[in-house]
This record gives sequence, C-alpha cells and structure tokens, in this order.
Amino acid sequence: MENNCFVCSKTPAKTIIAKEVTVYCCTNCGTQWQWPLKEEKEYEDIYTEKYYKEIWGWRKEKDRQIGKSKFATSKNFIKHLHNHKKGGKVLDIGCGLGYLLSFLQQDNYEYDVYGVELSGFARNISEERMGKGRVFENLEELKKKRMQFDAILLFDSMEHIPNQDKLLKDIDVLLAPKGKVLVIMPAADSFAAKIMGKQWIEYKKDHVLFYTKKALKQQLEKYNFRIKYMRSCWKTVTLVYLASYLSVFRIPIMSTILEATIKLFPEFIQNIPISIPIGQMMVVFERKEYKNNNYCGQVFLS
Ligand SMILES: [Zn+2]
Repeated sequence: MENNCFVCSKTPAKTIIAKEVTVYCCTNCGTQWQWPLKEEKEYEDIYTEKYYKEIWGWRKEKDRQIGKSKFATSKNFIKHLHNHKKGGKVLDIGCGLGYLLSFLQQDNYEYDVYGVELSGFARNISEERMGKGRVFENLEELKKKRMQFDAILLFDSMEHIPNQDKLLKDIDVLLAPKGKVLVIMPAADSFAAKIMGKQWIEYKKDHVLFYTKKALKQQLEKYNFRIKYMRSCWKTVTLVYLASYLSVFRIPIMSTILEATIKLFPEFIQNIPISIPIGQMMVVFERKEYKNNNYCGQVFLS
C-alpha cells in the first residue's frame, strides 16, 4: 500500500517528527497521519488499565472526583447536543470510562445511551456505570443488532480511529434518518497547532490522524455527509486533570510546577474548570440524503 493522503490521495511531501511519533502531512489538503496506520485492534494494547491510571489519574476511589472534573469538560459539548438533539437514542463512539454517557442518562432530556469502547478495562467500568448491555466492543455488534441512533458522539475519539473509511461508512448505517453526529477533535490548521509546531500537545502515539477543517469537510462530502456546524473551540479542563495529563505529556517547567503544587490546593480549587486553546474544533454533521437500502433492494428485485 502506498502512503497517500487518505482524504485527497496525493502523496505527502512533508514529514513531521514530533516527540514520540512520525506524522506525514499532505501538502495539498493539510491532513496529517501516522504511517503505517495499523488496524484498530493493533492499538488495543495502548488502552490498558495503565493508560487510564497514568493519563487520567483514574483510581476507583477517585472516580467521583474525576467525574466532577469530566462534567466540567463535557458541559459545553452537552449544551451543543441539546441544540441539535434533545433526548433520543445516543451512541458514544470511544466512550472510555463512560462519564459522558452517565451525565446524559441523568440529563433532563433522559437520553437512551449506548457506548462503544475498544478497551476492555474501560468497557467494564463504563458498563458498571450505565447498566448491562449498553457498552459494546465495536460497531459491528451494533450493526448486527440493526440499531440506529438519533445522535452519534465522537468526543476526543475520532483522532484515535485509524480506519476513517470504515468509520464513516458505519456511521452511515448506524445514524437514524434525521440523526446528527457531534465531533470534538484536534484541528491540524488550528492556531495552537501552528504556533506550537512539533511541540503541539496533540502529537502522541494514540492520536493517529488529524484533519484540517477544509479536509474534514472534503472527507465528509465523499461519504454523503454535510456539515451543519464547524468552529474552533477551547478545551475545558480542571487543574487536577491538567496536572495528571502534563505529568505524562511533559511541558518543561509547567509540568514540574503543577506536580509540586497541585496537592496543596483544596479539592474545590483542583476542580475549577479552566479553558485552554489547544487547537480543537467542534463539528456537527448530518447525512445529505437518506437512502433506505432495503427499499432500493426491493425495487431491484421486482
Ligand atoms: Zn490530502
């Protein structure tokens, strides 16, 4: 297989060696990706218990506190979901430890929630939180059950999924006729990405690809989707989240200062939400038109 851009098929002319990863950059559309892109299964060994404990600082006894911190980071996203879909069946692709879905279960609109999570460790915790039968290992299981969703969420997860072709085809099958897809992901053309260059905080082993806004639009059009909403957004984190994140993905001086001081603050200060521009975009997209495959089949047969 040749290393061509998965959006516009041009050969990349630029290589970025950033911290632990080598990323190829399309000089035509700006898309960036690691190469070779392995199958999703092969990334499974990244998302172990250690991953959630080190990066998220997850411990069973800390679950409540992390939950509060996660609520602060998801509030804006949930507000957006309210703007586009109030209630209904929701699927969170890459639901991690299941915090976002549990907020939606308790939301006033009482969403009927489902999740997909590759990591066995995270899947178990997620399912414990939300109830049996709500968290699946992959999209195939949902397709077999012929399930469809009013909203599909990709919150900090689209950049983790190597096979975008399959992902977008699966979304087309799983999205209800008037369904919406909500995405938050890093943008390769963001201000933060440009000024931080190789030091951009989003360059890491598990982030296998990045779109520019223009490239994502082009990609979605290819799969019969259209963008309803797209803009740059800031990431809301809490101090305690930032500290544990930066102790793994280190930034000189800042990591050390935070590590030394974070435990001195009372819990309510550790949980104060702060918004930082790290170069993310928020996107809402929908199908251009709904083709009922069964119906087409019948027309051909008769
Ligand atoms: Zn390209």
